[in-house]
Amino acid sequence: MTAKLIKGKWVITDAANPAITDGAVLVEGDRIAATGSFADLAAAHPDADVIGSDDHAVMPGLINAHHHHGGITGIQQGVPDMLLESWIRALDAGRPGDERLDVLLSCARLLRSGVTSVVDMASGRGTPEAWRDRMTRALDAYRETGIRVAFTPGANDQGWLGVGPGACDQDFLKTLPGDLADAVRPELPNESTITPADYLAIMDELIAGAADDDRVAVWYGPPGVPWITDRFYGDIADAARRHDTGLQTHVSESYYEGLMGPKFNGAPIMRHLHGLGVSGPNVSIAHGVWITEDEMALMAETGTAVSHNPSSNLRLRAGTAPLNAYLAAGVTTGLGLDNTAIGDDDDMFAEMRLALRLARSPTYREPAPSNGDILALATTGGAKLMRRDHELGRLAEGYLADIVLVRLDRIAWPWIAPEADPRDLVLLRARADDVDKVLIAGELVLNDGRPTRFDIEEVGLEAAALMVETAYPDAAARVAAALIPHIEAWYAGWDHKERVTYQAMNSRV
Ligand SMILES: [Zn+2]
Repeated sequence: MTAKLIKGKWVITDAANPAITDGAVLVEGDRIAATGSFADLAAAHPDADVIGSDDHAVMPGLINAHHHHGGITGIQQGVPDMLLESWIRALDAGRPGDERLDVLLSCARLLRSGVTSVVDMASGRGTPEAWRDRMTRALDAYRETGIRVAFTPGANDQGWLGVGPGACDQDFLKTLPGDLADAVRPELPNESTITPADYLAIMDELIAGAADDDRVAVWYGPPGVPWITDRFYGDIADAARRHDTGLQTHVSESYYEGLMGPKFNGAPIMRHLHGLGVSGPNVSIAHGVWITEDEMALMAETGTAVSHNPSSNLRLRAGTAPLNAYLAAGVTTGLGLDNTAIGDDDDMFAEMRLALRLARSPTYREPAPSNGDILALATTGGAKLMRRDHELGRLAEGYLADIVLVRLDRIAWPWIAPEADPRDLVLLRARADDVDKVLIAGELVLNDGRPTRFDIEEVGLEAAALMVETAYPDAAARVAAALIPHIEAWYAGWDHKERVTYQAMNSRV
């Protein structure tokens, strides 16, 4: 394979070091052989193919540390954002997509956003056969795209109605009018529903099937405490250790999930999960908004990582995760889009800026993240969450050649000061639309803003045609609309606790 020289006006190797001006990255095979001045590397490697120009910034591929692949978004489906517990039910009013098309549409947006690695939690219900088929189709679609993925399937064994663990389903049913209770009762499991044993057996197969694939890993994805019993969590944690693979789970995303630990388990959720074996360097949690200082210390101590997903938390009224406290505690922290970016567009640059701006405390006595802290979340932080920080997250010799080229014509127009730091210019001014080319393992997977492995126009037309011919799920939408006020009343009836903030953005007194 011919060597490649990835050329840029600036080469941003990582968040911690100054960019190389008029630089290049030498790629041999799937790895980086050197970084340095373009003139020197070009002289030493005259036969290398040159990709990029003086109008590009070159940077490490970004890592989306928590996601759910989706094609046509909830907003495009006509489902507005709501508080998480209501929104999950409201999504029933969306037309079902096709697994393959959803993955391709999702990956096209991610690649365009400079994302080269993604942790995708995909949960499902139904029969074991249907579940296996759905996960296999998604995995196959990922292999079509060339993106690096930790594909993270989950299946639940409680919490079928989305109102909490244990006896919550039955207790909630008693609060519903008879006809509405009858309408949702079929959602409870029956003898054909996938069981924990089915899930664990199919996961063995899926993990073995990805054993030799450098770009596709399979992790365990128990959705969260409302949906997974203690026993199932413990079995999953054991299996993840046995396979030496990752485990990601939602923890304390919404205010009400935060209440569930003390209410049902007698301890905050992370403490409780630790007792079940769900902690350690192979474990990451999504969100961690309603987390106590004790849980945060436990995460730092055990190496448990968190994906911070600020857009999602704002959109679904989940609050704002204490990013400054996570960083101060030394918790491994990545950044995730959760398929609910603030502009509904999976723009990782916008997500970085949101994370930066949200955590800026208003006094000189309190912390605020630096630009470098934020770029690190989306690169080295995510790489560590994926346990691949020895080969992902920066442009350095021996690292995998996951490289993003950002066009500078708009960002730098009409003039920029020579004193401006290129890392800041890209972090603070770039958009997904500026991403021109993306390489993963040295392969050009996005060129001129378009995926090279598949025709995105074609995929878009196919997805639209599918939506046109799919009937509106009228009955499910009517049940959801009738049910949401009952869900709200259910949770509003829980004991709310005093909130002592990590970061106060205003004051009543
Ligand atoms: Zn999520």
